[in-house]
Amino acid sequence: MFATVNSDCIKCGACEEICPQVFRMNSYGMAEAYINPVPQDDEEWTHQATKSCPVAAIILE
Ligand code: SF4
Repeated sequence: MFATVNSDCIKCGACEEICPQVFRMNSYGMAEAYINPVPQDDEEWTHQATKSCPVAAIILE
């Protein structure tokens, strides 16, 4: 599974809080997925983070 964050991100930080193994805030304050493909052990938390994003900016493929 691959995770990406699109430009709709409003920089709330929720994804990083829920799943710091996969998401972090970059130097522009936007979230990014920094490990792809997502390790299998982190897939559930990645789904949780995706569901928690208030603007649906996380895309999973
Ligand atoms: S949860 Fe969504 S809006 Fe918030 S930082 Fe992550 S990608 Fe951006």
